[in-house]
Formats: sequence, structure tokens, C-alpha cells
Amino acid sequence: MIKFSDTVSCENTEKDIINAVRKIYIQYQEFMNVKDLPEFKVEFFNVLEEKSPLCASVRLPSDTTDEYVLNISVDYIKLMQERSVPILYHEFTHILDHETILNDQDHSVRRRRLILYTEFHATIMQMKNATGFKNNDESKLLTLQSKIMKYENDIRIYKYLKDDLDSYIKTTAKYKLNMKDFEILRNYAIYHIAKKHFAKCYIKEDCSHLFNVQMFAEVLGEEVLQAEEILNSEKNDVQTILELHKINRILMERVINNSN
Ligand SMILES: [Zn+2]
Repeated sequence: MIKFSDTVSCENTEKDIINAVRKIYIQYQEFMNVKDLPEFKVEFFNVLEEKSPLCASVRLPSDTTDEYVLNISVDYIKLMQERSVPILYHEFTHILDHETILNDQDHSVRRRRLILYTEFHATIMQMKNATGFKNNDESKLLTLQSKIMKYENDIRIYKYLKDDLDSYIKTTAKYKLNMKDFEILRNYAIYHIAKKHFAKCYIKEDCSHLFNVQMFAEVLGEEVLQAEEILNSEKNDVQTILELHKINRILMERVINNSN
């Protein structure tokens, strides 16, 4: 596996970081057994200035540009080095999905329709990378005591999932009915569903006490549970994607109609 430390000189200039990120992109394509994913531009932002908790995000093509842009926080990437790889796997999965699913449709349509599916898929890939899967097809069994890579250090999966649940409980309690809060909480719900699915597939023990999708359903709407059921099938055919899109629309419309 390529690590930042193999590829980045100790100065960690922006150029070094771009080279490291591109190598990880190649490694990602081997992991997924795909070829020729499109190039992307790298743009840096200063996390301290923008007070953003994000360390990376990808800007997908729109109706005005075909370009993919990976926004990365130079601060985080420098600090985290190879610990940022799971996040990059997450972002690269958004590129993969956008390139390969519904690709006969306009960028903006595709982007909207893929939201739920791609957040689920990206989180699964992030988890696989963070728990040491060698490729996407590997089937291995972990335990709650296995290690998972986090920004600062490796921690037990149990602690990772418990911390996640605790923070989601807090965010759900603070939820206010507006689009910004909705988008954050909707994404957290999908991350939570993805991690629950990951646990079911790859962790030996029963992990049900570490998940509470119902909590999201109570705030966002019962359709969240339908989305979970559909996402668990891991299907990405057109019909499945459209069903998920319909659920997202229902959830969004509820926010639009009830806020203010
Ligand atoms: Zn994402």
C-alpha cells in the first residue's frame, strides 16, 4: 500500500501533496478494480481560516463544467498524512459513482439523483480502507476489538462506533428545521446506515446496540427506514437509484414546506 510517508517529502509542499493524492487515486482504482477514472484538479483551502470541519470534499461536474475538483485542506492533509486516505477513498467513490451511474444524464440531474446512494457507497469504501481491506472484493471478518484508522490514531471499532452514535445523538437533538441542518443530518443518517450495513457484513459480533437509525427517522421522517432497506441491497441499477431519489425528495419537500 502506498502511504503518504513514502511519497511526500518532509516539507509537505502543495505539489508533494498533489503527487501523493494522485498516487492514492491510482491505488484506489486498483482497490476497486476499475480503470481510467477521470483526472481531477486539486484545490486547497485553509481549514483554520474557513473554520470548516472538513478535510476533503469533491466538487462534481455541473452543467457549466466537466471538471472534477478535489478540495483538500492542506492543514489536515499535512497533519494526518496517510490517515487521510480513508477520507480520500470516500471522495474518490463519489467520482466513480458520478462517472458510472446514470451517466447518460446531465451532471446536475445525476448529482441530485445519486446523493443517497453515493454517500452510502462512499462510506462503505472509507470503512473498508480504514479497517485494512486489501481490495473491495476481499471478505474478511473483524471484531469490535479490531483496529480502525482514525485521524489521530488507530482505535477499536467499538469505540469508533460508540463515539459516532454519541455524536449523532447530540446532532439529532440540536436539529433545526432548515435546509442546512437537514442536509447535514440526512448525510449523517446515510453514514450511519452505511456503517450499520458494514458492521452486519464484516463484524462477527452483534452490533445492533451501536446503531439507532430510528432516531434519524423520528426527526427526518419514516422514509429514512425505507432508504435503509433499499441501500442494504447494495444495488445501483436505475430503478433503485430513482427510488432513493424519490425518498430524498420527499424528505426535502417536508423541510421546504414546514420551515418558516
Ligand atoms: Zn460524501
